[in-house]
Amino acid sequence: MNKIYLDNAASTFVSSEVLNEMMPYFTLEYGNPHSLHSFGREANSALDTARERIAKAIGANPEEIYFTSGATESNNWALIGIAEKYASTGKKHIITSQIEHPSVLETCKYLENRGFKITYLPVDSDGLVSIAELLHNLDSDTLLVSVMSANNEIGTIQNIKAIAQTVKERGVLFHTDATQAIGAVNINVKEMGIDMLTLSGHKINGPKGIGALYIKNGVEIAPLIHGGHQERNLRGGTVNVAGAVGLGKACEIACRDIIINSQKLRKMRDYFVDKVMQEIPYVKLNGHKYQRLPNSINLSFGMVEGEALMMMLDLEGIAVSVGSACSVGSPEPSYVLQAIKLSPELASGTIRISISKNISKEEIDYVVEKLVAVVKKLRSMSPLTKSSIGEFNNVQ
Ligand code: PMP
Repeated sequence: MNKIYLDNAASTFVSSEVLNEMMPYFTLEYGNPHSLHSFGREANSALDTARERIAKAIGANPEEIYFTSGATESNNWALIGIAEKYASTGKKHIITSQIEHPSVLETCKYLENRGFKITYLPVDSDGLVSIAELLHNLDSDTLLVSVMSANNEIGTIQNIKAIAQTVKERGVLFHTDATQAIGAVNINVKEMGIDMLTLSGHKINGPKGIGALYIKNGVEIAPLIHGGHQERNLRGGTVNVAGAVGLGKACEIACRDIIINSQKLRKMRDYFVDKVMQEIPYVKLNGHKYQRLPNSINLSFGMVEGEALMMMLDLEGIAVSVGSACSVGSPEPSYVLQAIKLSPELASGTIRISISKNISKEEIDYVVEKLVAVVKKLRSMSPLTKSSIGEFNNVQ
């Protein structure tokens, strides 16, 4: 059985171009980039190239790129590092949105427990943050605003430039988690007014365990990881050289191929959604209709349990993910789907499909064929009723 992977928002394969660049740094060029001898200098020069490539991809300067272990660390660092640096000024208010990744939301909770005030902005039914709501909440105590560029569950792309400008006009710092947006959305930190930006390797055909935080020159931040003098004294620990090389190459490729990849993905995504809508009744497409990631499809199926759907597709060799996070034994509706005001019934029938640029129409036809059969089977056994009919895009 050929397996079909439709969970690219969770992780992606490492492309051969990226892997080829990384390989020598595991075997031949194994020096510590912080050593002064030739081995060290060679590794350090590889880091310079990686920094340049990442900087170019987001319109930053190379010295504004700091390597981390991934987006989780970058998000923790951006929030905790700023909170700690400015704690003595008395400013203790941070604004974020209700649909951020847990690495932002849990860090905000951590800061809340340490006396910071956090505002979690609501989003509309498409998943968009309102500028009016943001303005209403910005006050003289606000230190930082952190709003993700694109959501990992429903794919909605925020109006980051407008948000950043609103924040800047009030002299407040702005951070964005661009983990899902790199390679899909054109980002230029200078033009957009972004002070800090998070990115990660494994979402863009690079390796896991490596990420970066862009910190604009002049922004003061406390370190999160204490240790040696690496990363301009701001992030202790020997840099993961092979990972950084991979991240640099992955960013370069993501940026180089952004137009062609996005066009291809959008075409395939729309073909996929249209086919599902034609062949399966009582389905809802979540997220913004146009302003969303080209690879992202979030679908709610009436009278179906998302987890059962995911598991039955898995038995057919098709990997998708559920739109609802689960705690042991009891399915909890996803907080993102709650924030866009999806009914609990529909939220529990939601799956996320995130395609790669390599998907073919034949594969999509095959997946939809299996989806039709599995949904039909689950509905025939379902005790759920058609109470949410008003919410669907296609009632046949
Ligand atoms: N932010 C977003 C929006 C993400 O999608 C993810 C990965 N699911 C992360 C942060 C965390 O990324 P990492 O695995 O690199 O820590």
